[in-house]
Amino acid sequence: MRHIAIVGSGPAGYYTAEAALKQWGDEVRVDIFDTLPVPFGLIRTGVAPDHQSIKAVARRYESTALTRNVRFVGNVMLGRDLSVAELQELYDAVILATGAPHDRKLGLPGEELPNVFGSAAFVGWYNGHPQFAGLHPDLSHQTAVVVGNGNVALDVARILAKSEDELADSDIVAHALAGLHDSAVRRIVILGRRGPHQIAMTPKELSELAKLSRAHPVVDAADLPPVEADAGLDTGLRKSLGHLRAFAANEDNRPDDVTVEFDFFAAPRAILGEGKVEAVEVERTRLVDGKAVGTGETYRIPAGMVIACIGYQTSPIPDVPYDEQGGRFANEEGRIAPGLYCVGWARRGPTGTIGTNRPDGFAIIEKVAVDIPGDSGKPGRPGFDALAEQRGLQVVKFTDWQKIDEAEVAAARTGAPREKFVEVEKMIEATGRV
Ligand SMILES: Cc1cc2nc3c(=O)[nH]c(=O)nc-3n(C[C@H](O)[C@H](O)[C@H](O)COP(=O)(O)OP(=O)(O)OC[C@H]3O[C@@H](n4cnc5c(N)ncnc54)[C@H](O)[C@@H]3O)c2cc1C
Repeated sequence: MRHIAIVGSGPAGYYTAEAALKQWGDEVRVDIFDTLPVPFGLIRTGVAPDHQSIKAVARRYESTALTRNVRFVGNVMLGRDLSVAELQELYDAVILATGAPHDRKLGLPGEELPNVFGSAAFVGWYNGHPQFAGLHPDLSHQTAVVVGNGNVALDVARILAKSEDELADSDIVAHALAGLHDSAVRRIVILGRRGPHQIAMTPKELSELAKLSRAHPVVDAADLPPVEADAGLDTGLRKSLGHLRAFAANEDNRPDDVTVEFDFFAAPRAILGEGKVEAVEVERTRLVDGKAVGTGETYRIPAGMVIACIGYQTSPIPDVPYDEQGGRFANEEGRIAPGLYCVGWARRGPTGTIGTNRPDGFAIIEKVAVDIPGDSGKPGRPGFDALAEQRGLQVVKFTDWQKIDEAEVAAARTGAPREKFVEVEKMIEATGRV
């Protein structure tokens, strides 16, 4: 028998569990730990609330979650409730699938002003992550600046731009829907240091901007390279450029619309304001060998909120070697130390789609199989259960999550799939175990 601890119940955690089941069948017991009493990581707290078909992928993890060889051990945080050394004493392999939940800093003057957020915080707010549910962004101003040229920037801009009706069938949480209902934001500026050929935005996400009921995208045709230059791009990026070109050509926009403006070759240099955000100072850039270089020309965008969508870092865990530069655990293809591994965003940083984590999970289990060929006699589950009891940990099981799930679905406003609990205590109450 092999005893495996996976820390983190996002896509990487569940794909790794699936791989362990394929590898060892009945000869393995997998415990999947999570800080939250609810599983699925960023599928619940990152993926946009109006992208329900993507969130549905979590249902596929249930076949893994519900086998008796896999357990969900929710409401247990590695580094707070128990240490890596303790887990390693109990399990043959400990696999960190803790993601990259920490916002990268812009590193600009004024970044500490109120109403400057990273995307983990802002997205966590509208998706009901307990850590960010109390964010209270101030939406009483006309202009929001979104920094970054990836899909997260598009998610944030789209959520700010949508009408209440357009969000009705999403699982956006009630406090965010109410906040956006009262929002005065009419201009959303997306800043990209480089140009249209350097975006990391995918065609599907871009195309959604053209279908909004009260908002339209704005691209300055002068920012677009000559159309012939698109021929050398890979298919996805070429399609994305097609959308940007269509946005630039669109002339039948309604003047009263909310605008989502793409400001390319634009590097933020400072966030300005006395006690609150009042403007963003931006420097025009040009590309030199693919890098954005400042031209010295600066301008100000009057704005009341800044959301930096520029990437994420893994949160360090005591006694786990950390790669500061890469913002993830120091690892060699997933190996951190004997018996200690990492997978998903915690291994490779915040890149790729949900599906990218599947081969990652299978690859790490292959390594575990090589490194730990037989039973090493560790106690596994019963050992953890004894420790949990001794510490008074309030462990949430997968069947408890199913009760939370049921309660959330039952509490949904009309047309919406669920109303999420945004406080850990309320989630635990819904399990009926307190
Ligand atoms: C805003 C946003 C939108 C996205 N939209 C899409 C999309 O539309 N389509 C798509 O394919 N991909 C999307 N992605 C990417 C996708 O979410 C990631 O590829 C995927 O979630 C990474 O999986 P993971 O398991 O490595 O990390 P995560 O999903 O982050 O899971 C990590 C888990 O570890 C837990 N954890 C962290 N620290 C500890 C600890 N110390 N102890 C115990 N548990 C811990 C966390 O609570 C979390 O549940 C999006 C990402 C973001 C940020």
